[in-house]
This record gives sequence, C-alpha cells and structure tokens, in this order.
Amino acid sequence: MSETGLPALGGCRCGQVRLAVSTPPMLTMACHCSGCQRMTGSAFSLSAAIPSQGFAVTAGEPVIGGLHGPEAHHYFCPHCMSWMFTRAVGMDWFVNLRPTMLDAPRWQAPFIETYASQKVPWATTPAVHSFPKFPSVEDYQALTAAYADWAAAQPEG
Ligand SMILES: [Zn+2]
Ligand SMILES: [Zn+2]
Repeated sequence: MSETGLPALGGCRCGQVRLAVSTPPMLTMACHCSGCQRMTGSAFSLSAAIPSQGFAVTAGEPVIGGLHGPEAHHYFCPHCMSWMFTRAVGMDWFVNLRPTMLDAPRWQAPFIETYASQKVPWATTPAVHSFPKFPSVEDYQALTAAYADWAAAQPEG
C-alpha cells in the first residue's frame, strides 16, 4: 500500500461533514461485534486506525451517537447520520476511521478482525489475524508492526 495520494479526502453520505487523512493507518480492522452490526446495518464494521495528528475534520460538526462512553465515542454526521469514525476514550493518539468514507476508498482490507465470537455465520474477511474479542494492548504493539510490513506488500485498497 503506497503512501502516495495523501491527503486522502472523504466525507459522509450527504457531504456536510468532510475529512482529510494525511497519515496512513497504523492498523486496519473489521469488527464483528453486535454493536457494529447494529450501527452499520451490516455484518461488520471496517476501521482504519489513523494517528490523530494525521486526521482532520475539514467541514461540518460531527455529533456523538452510538456509544456515548465510557469506552468509546462514535461520531456521526448530524444530517445524514453516517457513522464516520470512532474515538476510544483515553486513547487519543488515534482515530478509527470508517474507510468507506473516503472518496477514493483505500485501507479497506482488514489486517485483523475482532469479536469473531459474535460474527454472523456466513461472514468471512481476508483478515490475517482473528480475535474472539479485542486484542490486548500488548498485542496491538506487535500487530501494528506486522501491519506495516503487510500493508507495504498489498495492492492499493
Ligand atoms: Zn452527512
Ligand atoms: Zn464492533
């Protein structure tokens, strides 16, 4: 996955909220938890963990929906209600962006999948690592290192 074409621009379905990503992800994920199933209306959510300094909302004012805490805040467009990104409370160094918000989608292939214990029976992803719930904080350090090598070998997207 190249680092060209940055910043990557994106927005919600209606375009009221726009964002720009200037730093590649540290990790890409699919989450099969029942909460993500509810908020997406689909089998799983996709995330790209973007370092916070490389993420900017450039138009509009996202509102919190979904979980209002204590563990996470889910951000939505106030008009079209697209679920755009997530901030983990107490972990302000990254933002979990839904890569489907990007105008030219990239970073969609999940390197890991979480909450496989709750996945719908037919849902499969190409994730290299699968976890019944979330990995531990210690696991994430090794996973982000492994992701960088894996991402470098991936075709764009
Ligand atoms: Zn919108
Ligand atoms: Zn989830």
